Amino acid sequence: MSKNVKYCESCGAKNKTNAKFCDDCGKPFDKPEKTAGDKPSRVSEGVGLEVVSLVSSILGFTCFPVIGLIVAIITGLMSPNPKENKYAKAGITIGSLGLIVPTIILSFLGIIFGALEGTDDLIWMLVMGIIFLILSGVGLFFFIKWMRKPTA
Ligand SMILES: [Zn+2]
Repeated sequence: MSKNVKYCESCGAKNKTNAKFCDDCGKPFDKPEKTAGDKPSRVSEGVGLEVVSLVSSILGFTCFPVIGLIVAIITGLMSPNPKENKYAKAGITIGSLGLIVPTIILSFLGIIFGALEGTDDLIWMLVMGIIFLILSGVGLFFFIKWMRKPTA
């Protein structure tokens, strides 16, 4: 029972560990207080996935263009500590930017060529350009959101 309790720094009142504010004085608990033994232990069994992620992201620029990058993102996110592990983080970052940046460039090229030509034959370039621009924007949004998310 005492494990589920934390003490207010300000008034010393007992609070539930998940409390956002002190029940007694209302002082906000900005961070969930971690006990000394709570430090995230290095998960050795997860080492494989992070390395797979990084290797896939590099392969994504050589022999497996799109698939390698997607595998890098998925395996990186599946690893136990994607934000703490540099390999997983690198794999996810390379995978995400490797997919998003060329898609944005190709979208713009599609839109520009589609707009310049303006013929029925090339109107699909305009439509596809806009669709892929939206997709890459969504991808970029989630990537930035993930990068900014504090480590759990
Ligand atoms: Zn208090």
